[in-house]
Amino acid sequence: LMGYVGFANLPNQVHRKSVRKGFQFTTMVVGESGLGKSTLVNTLFNTTLYPPKEPLAPDAERSQTVAIQSISADIEENGVRLRLTVVDTPGFGDFVNNDDSWKPIVENIEARFDSYLEQENRVNRQKIVDNRVHACLYFIQPTGHALKPLDIEFMRRLHTKVNLIPVIAKADTLTDDEVAEFKARILADIAYHNIHIFQAPTYEMEDAETMDEAEEIASKIPFAVVGSDQVVVTPDGREVRGRSYPWGVIEVDNEEHCDFVKLRQMLVRTYMEELREYTNDVLYENWRTEKLLSMGV
Ligand code: GDP
Ligand code: MG
Repeated sequence: LMGYVGFANLPNQVHRKSVRKGFQFTTMVVGESGLGKSTLVNTLFNTTLYPPKEPLAPDAERSQTVAIQSISADIEENGVRLRLTVVDTPGFGDFVNNDDSWKPIVENIEARFDSYLEQENRVNRQKIVDNRVHACLYFIQPTGHALKPLDIEFMRRLHTKVNLIPVIAKADTLTDDEVAEFKARILADIAYHNIHIFQAPTYEMEDAETMDEAEEIASKIPFAVVGSDQVVVTPDGREVRGRSYPWGVIEVDNEEHCDFVKLRQMLVRTYMEELREYTNDVLYENWRTEKLLSMGV
């Protein structure tokens, strides 16, 4: 079903009473310019959060630091309201020296924890706005080789603060074999550096079917994704979201072509609530404990 995002399943993921209030979900995208972050966000939520780019004026000054931009949209599906915020980090990895690229991103994530803690400490805690980052999509350049030092540094700095979801950007530029080898190499690098990435939970599974689904999703990490905001026509005459090549069409929503569907399933249809819970119960809680200890509370 083209264009159906799938968060209408949220009430099944959580208690009914949250439905009235609506849901807040914040996802961050990080990766070098041109890796398809904006396009993928638009594809995921089937909404144009990012308008087409204005060409940069020749004398326009390029920022020398990583900028943090946050865009929100209210989207509704089958009567379920979702306030979606995407935090973009343009400039990451784009400089001659990228040693500190992770810093403004960590600071932003911690500032959001701070704001939450401050609200929790208020007398009236009825209207807490949760602006914490619940997931971070990290875009890996499709080199087919290994993770770069910048990738490792970023993930090492961030993995205790946010649910990391690594994705191979523009997977249509690699062959199936290259994708398989690259994935194995990335996972080996991640394991070697003791980086913790978000795991589809396999505990407390009610039945074998959900268990299979969880394992199926887990087996695709890091997701090899393709984004597109174009509808193209396949050789057999179907209209699909995809990218056209002289030799054929790569279909975004076709699981034989890429892992886009599995990524969306993880992020939206199945584990959105899990991502929010893990952020609150583990990542935020650890940060909070450390913070209070350091303040001598
Ligand atoms: P960002 O700088 O990371 O936000 O990247 P954009 O989303 O602006 O995309 C940069 C360019 O890459 C655009 O010309 C997109 O059309 C193209 N692009 C985006 N996603 C893909 C993809 O999955 N595959 C390919 N081949 N190109 C893509
Ligand atoms: Mg962009």
